[in-house]
Amino acid sequence: MPTIRVLSDRVANQIAAGEVIERPVAVVKELVENSIDAGATRVEVEFREGGKSYIRVEDNGYGMAPDAALLSLERHATSKIRETADLDTIASFGFRGEALPSIASVSRFTLRTRAEGSEHGTEITVNGGKLLDRKECGMPVGTVIEVAQLFNSVPARRKFLKATSTETAHISYNCRLIALAHPKLAFRLTENGRVVFQSPACETLGDRIGEIWGKRMVGDLIPVEAQDKEKGLRLTGLTAKPGVGRSTRRELVTLVNRRPVDSRTLGFAVLDAYHGRIQKGRYPPAFLFLEIDARAVDVNVHPAKREVRFRNEGEVRRFVLEAVTKALEQFEGVKATAPKPAPRPEIKPIPQLAPTIPKPTLPVKPTAPKAAPPIPAPQVAKLPQAALIPPAPAPEKAVAKQKDWECLRLFKKRLALFETSRGLVLLDLRRADQRVRFERILAGSAAGESPRQTLLLPIPLELEPLAAEALERQQKFLRTHGFEIEAFGRNFYRVESVPDWLRMEDAEVFIRDLIDLLRQRGKSVGTVVWEQIAQLAVKDSYRSGDALNTEQAERLAGELLGCDNPHTAPDGKATFTEVSWKEWDRRLGGE
Ligand code: ADP
Ligand code: MG
Repeated sequence: MPTIRVLSDRVANQIAAGEVIERPVAVVKELVENSIDAGATRVEVEFREGGKSYIRVEDNGYGMAPDAALLSLERHATSKIRETADLDTIASFGFRGEALPSIASVSRFTLRTRAEGSEHGTEITVNGGKLLDRKECGMPVGTVIEVAQLFNSVPARRKFLKATSTETAHISYNCRLIALAHPKLAFRLTENGRVVFQSPACETLGDRIGEIWGKRMVGDLIPVEAQDKEKGLRLTGLTAKPGVGRSTRRELVTLVNRRPVDSRTLGFAVLDAYHGRIQKGRYPPAFLFLEIDARAVDVNVHPAKREVRFRNEGEVRRFVLEAVTKALEQFEGVKATAPKPAPRPEIKPIPQLAPTIPKPTLPVKPTAPKAAPPIPAPQVAKLPQAALIPPAPAPEKAVAKQKDWECLRLFKKRLALFETSRGLVLLDLRRADQRVRFERILAGSAAGESPRQTLLLPIPLELEPLAAEALERQQKFLRTHGFEIEAFGRNFYRVESVPDWLRMEDAEVFIRDLIDLLRQRGKSVGTVVWEQIAQLAVKDSYRSGDALNTEQAERLAGELLGCDNPHTAPDGKATFTEVSWKEWDRRLGGE
């Protein structure tokens, strides 16, 4: 019979557990950090059910001798002497030596470890803070920790855990960041036996990003390197080329002294540098490492959240803004003076294929490839913009009403003034355009198979594993909506066709955003998601440079009035405002 011994301070540990490890990802972070501290060059993380039912971290670090192993589960037992100035200490001040006992107090916990020079390893099993067993075991030098049934014994905390998909996303995101922060560490993350991502030890940051986020990503980045010795600031890393943006800020990663952190100051400084270089509402991917004296950093929020403030926010902000701006300007300068690359051979549309493009009557011309793509750019037959709104027969009522709406003037390329039999109307061209396209997209898919355009040359697409998985899961959904995306190798795809309403030059960025959206939605996709997608599709469809003339504005008004919901844009904002003749009379004080 194994002797059951309650570890000292069991209750204190359970209370601390709530603070140190509020969710599974925090367990993963604590364990992996310990592995790194133990000098590991290889770490493998495995989890099930978002980490709620099982987490396992294995390393090849220096391990623990039998006594040290038992001691590591005692509160405040730490083998680490730290400088108070260390950011890590500030982050976990008060939690030193508490991670392992805290985790072991709220889970079924197994520690197996063997130190260099020990004959054998030690295996210790703890359940809810009760020591169940301790024995010798055979194993290589290193440590394996398994954490099962997290918070099972603390229902109040278990209740706060989010859906499996949410916890999974946190784990995979945070593991990527840890792997990023330590490029030389070989890292593998596995969920339910499937590899989420893995990377061998890497020599450079670029190589590491390539392993984790895909080679394509690296081609979108340029180096940043700046230092202000006087202020004790240094910024290094890679940041997006001008024009490269993403729909979420997930890939705008900032690290302070090698720790991934959330910092509004850093985020804003980077975004500022891209002002005018990137579409509004989009985020540049960036992987930036700030080095700063730890005493100039406050970790004043919860340690697990890693949100930091700087003693001198303004100074840090200016430094980062200037560093990134300089990198961008240098790149732009180099590009402007660089000799032009030899023109790529033009690919003419093949006449026999033309009928597969839905609007064969429109002129088709080859598109120029994007600047310096890492993968040969797709040379696709570009449909001119006019092709976006197919000249579908406008519904009867619209035609009738359209005649009634006479466009008098256009203002600021954004607004059109109409005279109608009822009064004066001011129409927001962009919103009207969005509404019309939005309903077209929905109508197209409601009618069954969406009309699609086959690409003369498919667009190559490299996806990170989780994105690839979301894509695989929703292939049927995508196909019924006009997207044909074929796999041709692990995480590599080819976009073969897209719905007819999608601009070719926007296709790749749009598909990436779309996959992001599908990823966020998890398994449940349907009409609602398709509406979101349609909304995404029309978000930037109208550009003020489109500069309509009065006749086109009248046609647009006619199409708008043929819509089911002509009064609002898809985001709910008004498309037009009307002041009736009666109202004019009233305002002018009667007839
Ligand atoms: P801290 O990391 O703050 O010291 P922990 O509770 O996380 O506290 O760990 C307690 C101690 O257990 C560490 O100081 C270290 O000596 C030992 N330890 C934990 N994980 C490992 C590991 N993977 N390899 C070697 N030693 C470890
Ligand atoms: Mg620790």
